[in-house]
Amino acid sequence: SERPQNIWHFEELLPIVDKRAQARVGQFSGYTPLIRADRLGAELGLSNLFLKDDSSSRPSFSYKDRVVAMSIARLLERGKTEIGCVSTGNVGTAVASLAAKAGVDAFIFYPNRLEEQKARGCMALGAKVCQVEGNYDEANRRCREVAEATGLDFANITLRPFYAEGAKTAAFEIVEQLDWESPDHIITAAAGGTLSSRLHKGLGELQLLGLSETDSTRIHIAQPSGCNPIASAIIAEEAEVHPVTPETAAHSLAIGAPGDGYLVIDAVLKRGGTGGFASDPEIFAGIDLLAATEGL
Ligand SMILES: *Cc1c(COP(=O)(O)O)cnc(C)c1O
Repeated sequence: SERPQNIWHFEELLPIVDKRAQARVGQFSGYTPLIRADRLGAELGLSNLFLKDDSSSRPSFSYKDRVVAMSIARLLERGKTEIGCVSTGNVGTAVASLAAKAGVDAFIFYPNRLEEQKARGCMALGAKVCQVEGNYDEANRRCREVAEATGLDFANITLRPFYAEGAKTAAFEIVEQLDWESPDHIITAAAGGTLSSRLHKGLGELQLLGLSETDSTRIHIAQPSGCNPIASAIIAEEAEVHPVTPETAAHSLAIGAPGDGYLVIDAVLKRGGTGGFASDPEIFAGIDLLAATEGL
């Protein structure tokens, strides 16, 4: 409890050993509040509901600070000074922000469907921004080619194993914040599938270390009905994800070919969870309900 309340709180369980790299990135990332949500819970008929509020993470106000901090720390550990990423928005903002602070040059590749303001935010943070023709999955393919041709490190492609480990920190924090009593259920939105699959991994590590009894915690995932390849596979009891062409206003979740989809299916199956989806109007209604009941 006396440790710094940031992404490095559980440093022994993370793949970065260089303390100087740790000191240069993520000092204000992660360790977000777990908010008791009684008013939203009452609306939904749930008596013990909490919200893990990653919108208060620094510097970029989303869970992507956790994962990108790990990629940039790895980059610094290797003594490199340039990083790229492919983004539907939040990864790009996290890369641009964390790279600016660490003195790293950032190159953000984003699909042309992205909202203009998100790209402008990255430019204001000093990143070079490149718009790629097509949707996220097409941009992702082009970035693999760029990585191969130039040797540029990509936060969520070439550095992906480090990126993914950062997502575990949310699981560690949730259990610690509940006094080491793992919750019955965790529900999260899924896009590429990194967060949900690594919550599963993080819970597993706490169990292995004897820090908490986490085996009975179920993990459930939600997707927009216009981009629900993981949820549909879970519902149809298939072991593989069939890629789709995204058609949803939830741009942060519009990944039609999710790289970690099979890991999510595995996590949900092993833990007895479920997959579900919501239409865009239902998503907007959910945003309004959250705002009106919890002020978020
Ligand atoms: C990235 C993201 C997620 C989860 O994405 P994964 O790729 O599945 O880890 C959920 N919500 C928001 C707002 C996001 O930006």
